[in-house]
Amino acid sequence: MLKHEHTRLVYRLKKELSAPRRILVTTHYGPDGDAIGSSLALYLFLKKQGHDVSVVTPNDYPEFLHWLPFNADVVNFMRQKPLAEALIGKAEYVFHLDYNHLKRSGDMSHSLYQCKAVRTLIDHHLDPALPSRYIFSEIKISSTCELLFCIMKQWDASLIDRDIATCLYTGIMTDTGCFCYQSANVAQTFSIAAELIGYGIDRAEIYNMVYDNYSENRMRLMGYCLNEKMELFPQYRTALISLNLADQKRYGFKIGDSEGFVNLPMSIKGIRFTAFFLEKEDKVKMSFRSKGNFSVNDFAKKYFNGGGHLNAAGGDSKTPMNELMQQIRELLPLYEKELNEKI
Ligand code: 5GP
Ligand code: MN
Repeated sequence: MLKHEHTRLVYRLKKELSAPRRILVTTHYGPDGDAIGSSLALYLFLKKQGHDVSVVTPNDYPEFLHWLPFNADVVNFMRQKPLAEALIGKAEYVFHLDYNHLKRSGDMSHSLYQCKAVRTLIDHHLDPALPSRYIFSEIKISSTCELLFCIMKQWDASLIDRDIATCLYTGIMTDTGCFCYQSANVAQTFSIAAELIGYGIDRAEIYNMVYDNYSENRMRLMGYCLNEKMELFPQYRTALISLNLADQKRYGFKIGDSEGFVNLPMSIKGIRFTAFFLEKEDKVKMSFRSKGNFSVNDFAKKYFNGGGHLNAAGGDSKTPMNELMQQIRELLPLYEKELNEKI
């Protein structure tokens, strides 16, 4: 399951970590299920080997991930800066999970740049650019959690337990849209999910905690987005949704409330490119999704200093929301042919 070169890397890393070390596990800004799931799974796996481990996230993440095992141990750089800085400063080893460039760690990137620890990258995003001694970059795999499971099995399968399996399953479930999205090796993803179920995880409860745990506000906000904020461009098979700060205030917006909104218009027949714009105090955060060969990774990289995967990517911009949306509307005709190709 692991590439040959990755198997060799696991062997070397395991040897290097055969004595207890101070280890820092980090992930990207705005952590999602795969980011937090992989971070906590690795945290538990390394702790079982006697290491002094900490998980530091750059900022907050949605409440629907707070139920994960040992979530209370996570240190938040934005809220607990002195502690987070101290952990980064004293780390001998640092793991970068589910991101491919230090700039994806937001304000924490300055401290991570200076960190002298031995780096390990475990990630599935395109264009990895985070120089590390150990690089596990597998762009065709569904999720960082799936890759991490393969690494753990090679490292010491006997350490994988129900909590670790719960964290990993959560990451795979969220990054695959509940096992729906296309990826290169779907059979492996399902077979790993089955193995994880074998550890006694509560699959229905995990689904329930992640997807059936939203506030009334969020549901009403979703209705508002679909009714009043969605723009369709059938000629370009595209849909855009935007949420400005006033909209967010009106619905008591909390981090995570717009999770998945970018996917909603994909249910409309014929739509194969969607963009979601979320206004923040200092920028607009964008999410892109596509079906088929239209690369939202290229699109996000080219125009918005972003990236991600072929069919799911993001970026941000300092351009005001209305101008930014106009910019996208004007870009669409350039892609008319590509967006209408047969898939
Ligand atoms: P989402 O739209 O769910 O926030 O992100 C979709 C995918 O794009 C994820 O794999 C995420 O890591 C990546 N992504 C989101 N925002 C950015 C960004 O600003 N820069 C880069 N390079 N990748 C991003
Ligand atoms: Mn991921």
